[in-house]
Amino acid sequence: MNRDYQVIIVGAGLAGLACGLHLQKKNIPFIILESSDAPGGRIRTDKVDGFLLDRGFQILLTEYPEARKVFDYEKLDLKPFSPGALVRLGKKFHRVTDPFREPDKALETLFAPIGTLTDKMNIAKIRLTLTGQPIEKILTATEYTTMELLKLQGFSQSIIDKFFRPFFGGIFLESKLETSSRKFEFFFRTFSGGDNVIPAKGMQELPNQLAEKLGLSNIKLNTRVTNVTNQTVTTEDGETYEAPHVVIATDRRAMGKILYGTDLSEDDRSVTCLYFACDTAPIKEPILVLNGEKTGPINNLCVPSNVSSDYAPPGQALVSVTVLGTRKDHNALEKAVRSQLEEWFGRDVKGWRRLRTYRIDNALPKQNPPTSFVENKNEVRPGIYVCGDHMSTGSLNGALQSGREVAAMIEKSLL
Ligand SMILES: Cc1cc2nc3c(=O)[nH]c(=O)nc-3n(C[C@H](O)[C@H](O)[C@H](O)COP(=O)(O)OP(=O)(O)OC[C@H]3O[C@@H](n4cnc5c(N)ncnc54)[C@H](O)[C@@H]3O)c2cc1C
Repeated sequence: MNRDYQVIIVGAGLAGLACGLHLQKKNIPFIILESSDAPGGRIRTDKVDGFLLDRGFQILLTEYPEARKVFDYEKLDLKPFSPGALVRLGKKFHRVTDPFREPDKALETLFAPIGTLTDKMNIAKIRLTLTGQPIEKILTATEYTTMELLKLQGFSQSIIDKFFRPFFGGIFLESKLETSSRKFEFFFRTFSGGDNVIPAKGMQELPNQLAEKLGLSNIKLNTRVTNVTNQTVTTEDGETYEAPHVVIATDRRAMGKILYGTDLSEDDRSVTCLYFACDTAPIKEPILVLNGEKTGPINNLCVPSNVSSDYAPPGQALVSVTVLGTRKDHNALEKAVRSQLEEWFGRDVKGWRRLRTYRIDNALPKQNPPTSFVENKNEVRPGIYVCGDHMSTGSLNGALQSGREVAAMIEKSLL
């Protein structure tokens, strides 16, 4: 048994790391117990045949308020996507320049065949309203599903189906847009102010930067916690740790098992990401491609090696394809994805080599109304705290914020 810590943090995802960083700044001794072989949680990058494969396509929005405080952006060597997207519709790709930052310019391209004049005015109006508002107000506003809000705001069915559904479907990892309108408005505001980026050497650079600051000696890897009773943390190997404060910084599923012996994550959002290697990139730009039609498995795709050349070895390109949900029949899924890719990019696709497929069951927490992004109760029992993206806006920003807030609660209790 080890009693040298004031705080035990379970999980070295962004929430656990952010919690540790705040404690470190306040000289409060802690240890992080992490079940995996490296920090990062859902943000990991694998090196496969010279390619960098993020475990599921993810981006950082530079405007994320918490991320701006926590990360050293300069050192991450961030590489931006082009603003806007290419929308696949009626056998062609249609460019939507930048609906969030420059709605006037963007909607010229949206008029036909994607949006209407009213859509253009609506986007400009929402942007104006949201950019002036404190985030807390957005996160406590009257709540609808995103689909309900879009309809209430008078958007055409065309722009909903051809742009909002694939774009926000890729963020919420669900295509019905049942997710809370508060989260939609939070993302809309965040997109309006900054770039969408990836670190040059993969998304894992984000947790790596925080873990380096913390010092790896504060993180015990390959250590799975099985339960927490009062202030005692027990690991799979039967080791016990004790501290006055215990923070469960895992995903919701693991949190349920550790604290309540049950799985709380049944409805969490799942996603499949397929990576292909090819000699010639099917598009030349660092831009997101959206499926504007309701047919086929693909929701969105991009060529990460167009954004950062480190993602592929010289002379090759990496294609990342996102399919919402997971499928039991992996071969059938790959076949359907290839067939849609061929329809979009022609026979060259036959020569593409599948590098890896990631199926992620608990990619994001389900966050349909009613939500409580602000008034969450993080101390679930005396001295036992919960943090993670499921306690905030399910995003890397939410995870960082939630971890820092729990550390601040502990700091306060020690004063
Ligand atoms: C495919 C995909 C795409 C995404 N896209 C985006 C995006 O574009 N932008 C964005 O902002 N967010 C995105 N997200 C969400 C974002 O990655 C997460 O919100 C964030 O990383 C969650 O961090 P966390 O610390 O809350 O949880 P996690 O990252 O899940 O960390 C929890 C940690 O706890 C550890 N753990 C679990 N059980 C135990 C145990 N019993 N004992 C010890 N340790 C344990 C895990 O190994 C893990 O390291 C995406 C996520 C996925 C999967």
